[in-house]
Amino acid sequence: TEQGDSQVPDGMVASGGRYIDPNAPMVALTFDDGPYAPVGNRIMDCAEQYGGRVTFYVVGNRVNSYKSEIQRMYANGHEIGNHTQDHKYLQKLGAQEIRQQVEACNQAVAAITGEAPKTVRLPGGGKNSTVLANISQPIALWDVDTLDWKTRNAQYTIDTVLRQVQDGDIILMHDLYEQSVIAAETLIPELTRRGYQLVTVSEMAELRGGMAAGQSYGHFR
Ligand code: ZN
Repeated sequence: TEQGDSQVPDGMVASGGRYIDPNAPMVALTFDDGPYAPVGNRIMDCAEQYGGRVTFYVVGNRVNSYKSEIQRMYANGHEIGNHTQDHKYLQKLGAQEIRQQVEACNQAVAAITGEAPKTVRLPGGGKNSTVLANISQPIALWDVDTLDWKTRNAQYTIDTVLRQVQDGDIILMHDLYEQSVIAAETLIPELTRRGYQLVTVSEMAELRGGMAAGQSYGHFR
């Protein structure tokens, strides 16, 4: 037994600066299209208050405008995912452009944190065989689509999540709109109260069978 293992409570897994119970319910809240510090920092404030971690699928061409938000995500155990360099619909592009869009975002994040994103989220969820063949990271999609970007209505987002949520879900929201963070500030305590641990996509994948390159996932059960 390595020194330090005795610190971890029985049956728990240490990750992201807190403990996860692998046998208890969990969901991954994900926030696309940022970074955008006025929203992202509030999401992190709330998640951290409840011992949760979330995943941000960032657009590469935005990350240098919000370096300290990116650094905070990384330092505090949130996940930074790849949402392409320019939010291009990859199913409309050729192989070389697909690779460039993904690689440029990987490099933009790694230039700040030292580590490239582990997973990719396709803008609009758009995929075809060329997309799948040209992305070497696993693809994280979602099971619960809040449509927060469309309704800009916090109560609709809250109701959508609480009506549909199941253990293992990946939930799609956006790191851009005030109504999304208002929804998150209700959802994070309420999901926690209902017994869901708030974990990152990669944490949930790791605890539930892993991910493979070129495969896409909407949940981990
Ligand atoms: Zn997007």
